[in-house]
Amino acid sequence: MAEIIRAIKGTQDVLPQDVHKWQFLEGEMLKTAELYGYKEIRIPVFEHTEVFSRGVGDTTDVVQKEMYTFLDKGERSITLRPEFTAGVMRSAIENGLVNGALPVKVCYIGGCYRYEKPQAGRLREFHQFGIECIGASAPGADAEAIALAEHVLSNIGIKNLSLQINSIGCKECRKKYHAALKEYFAQKESELCATCLERLNKNPMRILDCKSPVCSKIAADAPIMLDYLCEDCSEHFEQVKNHLNAAGLEFTVNPHIVRGLDYYTKTVFEFVSSDIGAQSTVCGGGRYDGLVAELGGPSVECVGFAMGLERLMLTAEAQGADFPEPKTCDVYFASLGEKATLMATKLCTNLKREGFAALSDINARGLKPQMRYANKIGAKFTCVLGDDEASSGKIRIKNMADGTETTVLAENIVPEFYKIINGYALDNLANAVL
Ligand code: ATP
Ligand code: MG
Repeated sequence: MAEIIRAIKGTQDVLPQDVHKWQFLEGEMLKTAELYGYKEIRIPVFEHTEVFSRGVGDTTDVVQKEMYTFLDKGERSITLRPEFTAGVMRSAIENGLVNGALPVKVCYIGGCYRYEKPQAGRLREFHQFGIECIGASAPGADAEAIALAEHVLSNIGIKNLSLQINSIGCKECRKKYHAALKEYFAQKESELCATCLERLNKNPMRILDCKSPVCSKIAADAPIMLDYLCEDCSEHFEQVKNHLNAAGLEFTVNPHIVRGLDYYTKTVFEFVSSDIGAQSTVCGGGRYDGLVAELGGPSVECVGFAMGLERLMLTAEAQGADFPEPKTCDVYFASLGEKATLMATKLCTNLKREGFAALSDINARGLKPQMRYANKIGAKFTCVLGDDEASSGKIRIKNMADGTETTVLAENIVPEFYKIINGYALDNLANAVL
């Protein structure tokens, strides 16, 4: 036998028995976002590398260490998206979304790719749901985005999350802060990791996000941005807090949150779970007022967030969350003989057109294996068809939960099945709708 091929390290399959959980999460996310005026946007999995080096920032961990970048056959540098925001902004600029009535509200779900050390809650292919509110600068926009994140998390049943917020100011007030950070980290230069040494001159704020234990320990005592906010940023942050209070959202101010991507300005926030160990941030986001201009578009202020589906799934499972039951087979027709098999095909076709999950044998197997299969797939009802049923047109439908049987005419299968499965006749159903 040929050797089997395994999935790439850091990727995972979602198998058919689990997919309903993912569909539930995704469905709730899109439905909730719709309530806040968001429409889904779908963008390519790969982009010109520049979208991310310019957008995410070339001193970030994501760009320096984690991107899947390659030359295609035309020698172009291509990168698999490590996140969506930069690509969504590329699309919003290219397609003129940023020039129309603002805000434009878009959301997305899809795979992201980062070359990281795989561990629980950290994969090389993972999935994000996120939103971008394009063209809204007032603090109410930040609070609305945070409220949407909270609403999604609560609709999917995630508990025990803490919301932590911070402000990392604007370009202007950050100048003074950068100077203070440089001075602080310069004193510890000998202890910093090689990457952070490089960052010291280029972008000292990135040191605050370094994952190395030594650097993060040094970063814990570094000056904090909140002490350096300009009047405008400070007022904006106060207003965000007021709006969060008005929306009834509990939060804590955590001055150490800086987020790992360069485009953030002013508000940044995270939802953190206490139930999934080290990779505990299930959602991160913030304001990014400079990104659209950085990517060649007009000056348009935005706010957004992204949540990791795998981390949400881990949290939900750690909390023993209840997922809605997946759809199973409504009725399985087992058949023996050509006439009965054709009858099964006809009955199934009619029922499926009415929206019932009706299956029949497609392996030309004996009755026993057919019934075993019906059991295995959890058919709610079964019906055995043979020569007798084919000639009399009378069939017996068995309720697999309690063993009761109902005899019906095959030609009336659709209204009869409504009666059987829903407990009332098609006529009543039609009346009820009227
Ligand atoms: P972390 O600090 O955990 O590396 P990050 O700051 O890199 O996260 P973002 O880029 O803001 O994360 O992505 C938003 C969300 O996407 C994270 O909060 C997390 O839920 C999820 N996420 C990020 N990287 C991964 C990964 N490698 N595997 C699984 N989920 C991830
Ligand atoms: Mg990261």
